[in-house]
Amino acid sequence: LPVDELIASIAVDVPDFPEPGVVFRDLTPVFADAGAFRRVVDALTEPADVDPRAAALSGGGPGFDVVAGVEARGFLLAAAVALDAGTGVVPVRKAGKLPRETVSAEYALEYGTATLELHTDSIRPGQRVLLVDDVLATGGTLQAAIALIEQLGGVVTAVAVVIELAALGGRQRIAPHPVHALWTT
Ligand code: 5GP
Repeated sequence: LPVDELIASIAVDVPDFPEPGVVFRDLTPVFADAGAFRRVVDALTEPADVDPRAAALSGGGPGFDVVAGVEARGFLLAAAVALDAGTGVVPVRKAGKLPRETVSAEYALEYGTATLELHTDSIRPGQRVLLVDDVLATGGTLQAAIALIEQLGGVVTAVAVVIELAALGGRQRIAPHPVHALWTT
């Protein structure tokens, strides 16, 4: 089964969550399925070269030095991708969770705002970052995460998500950063 069909067959649509009128794509059954989780992690790792060490030895090309994941479902994916690729993993967290000096970015939600934070020493200037989350909706969350990484001098070489909800325009919002979506719907 192609990975998009695999995801579509296992993810569960939840009507009226977290509020009436919204259909929430629940990916927890995909993460819980050993075969599907493996396929998803492999596919997320693809766009930026499976092995960054090989990319470095071959003198460059696309690749990444570290994987950043967005709290909380992005953590599940980012850690697996990083382990697979032989890199470290960096958490982009909600406000007030990281204990040391951070940079922070506020972004708009449908109602109100939210804040994401990153430890200032978690990304070094010039480091190539693969940014991972589960779902790209309006793109506000990933746009804020990109801003933090770039504020620290990091280079977001790719953004990888399991599901892209195309009608919400997230891809346009975070352009020109390339989005690698396993299932666009
Ligand atoms: P955005 O900022 O792109 O509008 O929203 C993306 C964030 O909200 C992601 O962190 C994602 O986890 C969450 N999100 C929005 N819609 C859905 C959905 O239908 N399913 C899941 N699993 N997460 C969603």
